Amino acid sequence: MSEKHAREADNFSNAAKYERDDVKFLIEKYPDVSPFVILKIDVQRRGVHYTESALSQFDPKVHQASNASRIFGIRDKNIHDSLIPSSLLLRDGTSICVDAVSPDSNSYLVEYFDGKLVLTDNGEIYEEVEYWEKPSFFDKKTSSGKPMYTIASARPQRLSLAPYGYCHFWDNGKGCLYCDVFTQAKLRKATDKEGYSIKLDPRDISETYHEALKEEGRFTTTSLTSGSNTHGFEPFDAEVDYYIDVLKAMGENFAIKKFPVQLTGTAYNERQLRRLYEETGLMGYTSDIEVLDPELFKWICPGKSEWIGFDNWKKRLYIAVDIFGRGNVNSGIVGGVELAQPNGFKSEDEALKHTLAGVEELAEHGVTVVNTVWIPRQGSYFEHLKIPSLDYYVRLAKGIYDITEKYDLTNDTDDFRRCGNHPNSDLLRLHK
Ligand code: SF4
Repeated sequence: MSEKHAREADNFSNAAKYERDDVKFLIEKYPDVSPFVILKIDVQRRGVHYTESALSQFDPKVHQASNASRIFGIRDKNIHDSLIPSSLLLRDGTSICVDAVSPDSNSYLVEYFDGKLVLTDNGEIYEEVEYWEKPSFFDKKTSSGKPMYTIASARPQRLSLAPYGYCHFWDNGKGCLYCDVFTQAKLRKATDKEGYSIKLDPRDISETYHEALKEEGRFTTTSLTSGSNTHGFEPFDAEVDYYIDVLKAMGENFAIKKFPVQLTGTAYNERQLRRLYEETGLMGYTSDIEVLDPELFKWICPGKSEWIGFDNWKKRLYIAVDIFGRGNVNSGIVGGVELAQPNGFKSEDEALKHTLAGVEELAEHGVTVVNTVWIPRQGSYFEHLKIPSLDYYVRLAKGIYDITEKYDLTNDTDDFRRCGNHPNSDLLRLHK
């Protein structure tokens, strides 16, 4: 290739790369995808930095701070999490579950400008945003003296509980390679001044839940999620026993048996799934397969692979559909992690084709799939890897949404109102 041709090829590839990451270009390229969702994905990919002017509008008495109870860690260890907002809301009700990062990163800025909070990039205003409101129960304590904000956190319309903040796949170093739950557990233990516990007492949960339900109209569902616990007579019996205790304690707040609650747990066997369904008020079950390729599953999720395996994970999800019903069983994938190098797919087209084929297989069996946006988290094995383009994430969200529509699946617990962490299920508000 001549020098001139090489330069032209370079320019072309730089331009193509620029377009694959350019929000405005992609909003025009995909007119059938909500512009709010495209912006949200990019904000999740790149993170936000709160400027001084934005923080002047943050009132911890009114807004939820990012030090509320959670299982995953922070993206940037230089950020002090009690002084910043936990996340953002767009004008159309789309939530952006996003981590704060240092100003020197390639992030969006949140600024206060002309009486409004706005998202900006390179000095240009993209959208208005709001901070999430703090629920009233945050200021209360349980009868054992625990601050309730250490027990549960809140999305705009959902209560979130992470009752067990450790994952036993880390016991022999086989936690998922993108995950920082172990680092977060260590960090919380080392800096615990506020009474956070790795394992919550079901009584504290019940009392917090009771207070949360007093806020009329605020919460329409609850999500429970924790690390995996391999212990028990059969593997994961200890995890199931504990969830049954937690769900029974929560159920004391209702006069009827079933109540809107979703559990994101390990892929349980049939006996364990039946126990959860029959002994508690649980209505929705999620078990995250994380990556839809058997070889990548082995590499990226070595603990899940060792204890359960890729095919068995899927089989257990199908059994769950028989028990909980279509539309009540979900599986999450860490969108984009299939491109993690050195073993991931080498091209975005190839990754998308394989991933959507895996989504379709699960949908054929009545399992709804949701994707998160992979962020290389500090403290995870993958912390220094490169994330895929924005174009890839838009195609992934739209592709999963199309399959969900094709199989007429619903997803009430993970939609834009309740969860707000999945670009594909944000699109489901257009469900025909
Ligand atoms: S199962 Fe994987 S992603 Fe979930 S907490 Fe354990 S290591 Fe992290």
